[in-house]
Amino acid sequence: MLDFTEVDKNQARYVRYRDSDNKKYCECISCGRPAKREICRISWYNNSTKLRFHEKNTNAQCISCVKTMNKNYRGHRFGMIERYGEKIFDELELAARIAPLITQETVDDLALDYMDKLEIMLENEKEMTENVK
Ligand SMILES: [Zn+2]
Repeated sequence: MLDFTEVDKNQARYVRYRDSDNKKYCECISCGRPAKREICRISWYNNSTKLRFHEKNTNAQCISCVKTMNKNYRGHRFGMIERYGEKIFDELELAARIAPLITQETVDDLALDYMDKLEIMLENEKEMTENVK
């Protein structure tokens, strides 16, 4: 059984940072409303394990869409088109078809990759904050 604990945590943090602006608000992929970065969730458009770590398949979503609108799948679809274009669904389908088997080694490597990307974003955010002062 694969252990996704570390990679899930790092991926969620990474996506929330990637999808947020300099005021620390994410734009919800489904409704477009701003949500505080610390409390927004991440959501997968396609729940296939093969697409679990596809960058465009994973986006920040507000609590309202997750909880009260049952993940607002319809809004998520429109948000995907707006953000990535109509061809995103073909891209995901192809990615799922050619995706390599996920192993624990892959998962562990991805956890480290997300941590590296996150560190770069945190560093950039720190520099931007310091430049504003
Ligand atoms: Zn929303």
